[in-house]
Amino acid sequence: MHYLDHAATTAVLPEAAQTACRVMTEDFGNPSSVHRMGIAASGIVEQARKQVAAMLHAEPSEITFTSCGTEATAMAISGACRRKGRGKHIITTAIEHAATLNTVKRLEQEGFAVTYLQPDADGHISVDDLRAAVRPDTVLLTCMLANNEIGTVLPVKEFGKILKKKAPQALFHIDAVQGLARIPIKPKLWNADFISVSGHKIGAPKGIGALYIRKGVHIAPLMVGGGQERGMRPGTEAVPNIAAFGEACRIGMERMDGNYAKVEALCARLEQGIAERFPWAVYNGKHDIPHVVNLSFPGCKSEVLLRVLEMHEVYVSSGSACAKGKASHVLSAMRLDHARIDSALRISFAPANIPEDVDALLDALEEGTARLKREI
Ligand code: PLP
Repeated sequence: MHYLDHAATTAVLPEAAQTACRVMTEDFGNPSSVHRMGIAASGIVEQARKQVAAMLHAEPSEITFTSCGTEATAMAISGACRRKGRGKHIITTAIEHAATLNTVKRLEQEGFAVTYLQPDADGHISVDDLRAAVRPDTVLLTCMLANNEIGTVLPVKEFGKILKKKAPQALFHIDAVQGLARIPIKPKLWNADFISVSGHKIGAPKGIGALYIRKGVHIAPLMVGGGQERGMRPGTEAVPNIAAFGEACRIGMERMDGNYAKVEALCARLEQGIAERFPWAVYNGKHDIPHVVNLSFPGCKSEVLLRVLEMHEVYVSSGSACAKGKASHVLSAMRLDHARIDSALRISFAPANIPEDVDALLDALEEGTARLKREI
């Protein structure tokens, strides 16, 4: 099996799985219980909070656990925009994940004005465009750190600086789901007020995320209930997932440089293979991180090519895994032509991949593209 779809989700790290299993079967108390089992569970949550905070270069008190990256993003955007007596203008980009775009769209329907910054042909968002977009009534800038479809990295440091200078009252949210454990997260340097992250992209189970909320920033929670997570995220804590997320962050931080170098080497091997064997293929976007590569094989419909690759036990994605069957809004925003969008594959690596995975992909692509071109 050659799994090259890690931007969609990745395997749970053995250490994280063992941690979750131990918590589920042994330390299974409710953190709200006042007896010894409850206190132990609460300690596990706080230990994980420290581990996530360390990865985010934040204070543990600035971390709120959520069910996923989507919830963290919704919490930040809705919370920031619904503060009373603030402006009604939101800035985002056209290449955001659906978690951001749909939350912003809902606010737009409620009367907020939204500026969608457009990418250039490489998938980059311009600092000058952001500068021109900031208004006195801007309440929030929400953008991603790394794009999940094309691997571009947004200039969040410059964005933060410009936003805080031109509209000091506005808040800055960064969706760092695809950047976590790949790019060092620096909330203070970036002037970030919120950062959302997700466990299942870095080796924790699905169903756990977190939101960094800068100390001193106060927003209303999405829902009310018990007082868990200091009232920001009521509901009994998913202690096994939280513990596993903490463990995945600890490992991710420890191995960040080595893992990055491994993925870089895999990406270079892919690029070399593409140059030698598919000189007619075209890259979509400039992958600033080597983890996500988007390529079109004009004339070969990606949905069909995907099936051929699957027959060789090679798993990649067409466009974004979150937008099944739909033309990618990211590639569309880059104004790529229909034939290119229709033949786009997303290949995404994890450090667990080996060079043979890349070779298997290249071999399967050779057979698949030859077959599809014959059928035209
Ligand atoms: N943001 C980005 C950039 C993503 O890639 C994803 C998931 O693919 C999300 C947000 C949503 O995260 P989750 O699946 O944890 O809700």
